Amino acid sequence: MEILVIGGGYVGITTATCLAREKNNVILMEIDKKRVATLQNDDLPIFEPGLDSLYKKAREDGKITVTDSYKEAIKNSEISMVCVGTPQSERGDYNLDYMRSAIEGLGTALRGKKERHTIVVRSTVPPGTSREMLATIEYNFSNQEHYPNMAMHPEHLVEGSAVHDFLNPAKIIVGQEYSTAGDAVLQAYYDAKILKKGDPRICRLSLEEAETEKLLSNSWLASDITLTNESANICDAVGVDFYKVIGAVLKDPRLGNRKFTRAGPGYGGSCFPKDVAGLTAFAETKGYKAEYFRQVMKTNKAQPRIVAEELHQRYLSGFEEKRVGVLGVTFKGDTDDLRETPIKPLIEELKKLGKGKTIFRISDPFAKRENVKNVFGMSLKDMHDVANWADLLIVGSDHSQYQGQDFINMLYAKEHNGGHVFDAKNSFGGKFKAVGRWATEVVKI
Ligand code: NAD
Repeated sequence: MEILVIGGGYVGITTATCLAREKNNVILMEIDKKRVATLQNDDLPIFEPGLDSLYKKAREDGKITVTDSYKEAIKNSEISMVCVGTPQSERGDYNLDYMRSAIEGLGTALRGKKERHTIVVRSTVPPGTSREMLATIEYNFSNQEHYPNMAMHPEHLVEGSAVHDFLNPAKIIVGQEYSTAGDAVLQAYYDAKILKKGDPRICRLSLEEAETEKLLSNSWLASDITLTNESANICDAVGVDFYKVIGAVLKDPRLGNRKFTRAGPGYGGSCFPKDVAGLTAFAETKGYKAEYFRQVMKTNKAQPRIVAEELHQRYLSGFEEKRVGVLGVTFKGDTDDLRETPIKPLIEELKKLGKGKTIFRISDPFAKRENVKNVFGMSLKDMHDVANWADLLIVGSDHSQYQGQDFINMLYAKEHNGGHVFDAKNSFGGKFKAVGRWATEVVKI
């Protein structure tokens, strides 16, 4: 199949790279000229484990071409997958400007095309958007036979394991206007040999059902993180060990096999905060006040402050000057993504509590220097320099390379030499003795 992917970000590059195999060829269209140059140079503007080598291989095999021209992009393609950003607007709903401009560019380029084309919305959008986008394109078409077909195929990848998730999907959600649109989406997976016909993971819905499914999925996942954090805060207030208690609670099969059971400074990233807010705002335009999700947002926003207060009280208050090093500043492990990272409000709260007496240095193996400067107003430092310098060392992201024995030995050494280590994401569970609620203090057992 000849596939056009629009938008060269986390979702677009992963979609393009993972589909560019076997019988498929992909053309990746991106408007940012700097990104286009990077991609044409066989480099990636983002970090995602395993993606770089797969992308280079697909380029070597001639399976991916990159362009900034809709006209060129549309020439041979049968299907277009729109993966542009849909960030949160100032009102809390979705900013659909990139989506509108992509659809406009696509609609214009499609006009002379002889064959019927399938447009697939992969970006996360509020219900009704795909149908609205189709209507804006249809308006420009005079020959009914060549009207594009529309599908909504939300992306469920998890940053940090996006390649694995794409090639081994837990579910394939396809919203369709007509079944031929859904068939075209699935054909791309059959041709890439990722799926076989009749796979039970395929779930066909309407356009609006698929759009709603994505928002609810992320809102449920974000709620689970908040539920864990709130439960841990309660256990701490009661004075009981959260992990022992929650371990017992989750023996009940009615509570399912939950993944988000490690307490931390709250959810972040480009999806959960935006999608809980977007779903809530959308429900309210339909006359339903989504109080539960409103509270999830509020509780999540308070969590970095709660962690900061605990940290300040334990390690920082009453001292003249304290040096805090943060290892890992991305919103989660194994990504370079800093969007809505909870480490930012955590540091800001600690600064406030320290009244100028707490100073910071940060390090991260994946985050890009210029992005770190923009988000934190600080420069990245070498990990060992930060570790040696700090009185208190916070492990802020659960990068897998932090699980290596050398890293853990470095934490032991810090403790041994009178410093303190705080595992904000509780990623060393089992290796260390748990102390307190969401945090695990690094104490060798
Ligand atoms: P991103 O911001 O990393 O990338 C979007 C890309 O689209 C940018 O490179 C931008 O320059 C490009 N773009 C914007 N307008 C364009 C246009 N008119 N034509 C061509 N390119 C254009 O975004 P992302 O993280 O990849 O997310 C994309 C969508 O997928 C969003 O709706 C997001 O909510 C959703 N999503 C993201 C993830 C994730 O983990 N990042 C997971 C699932 C779904």
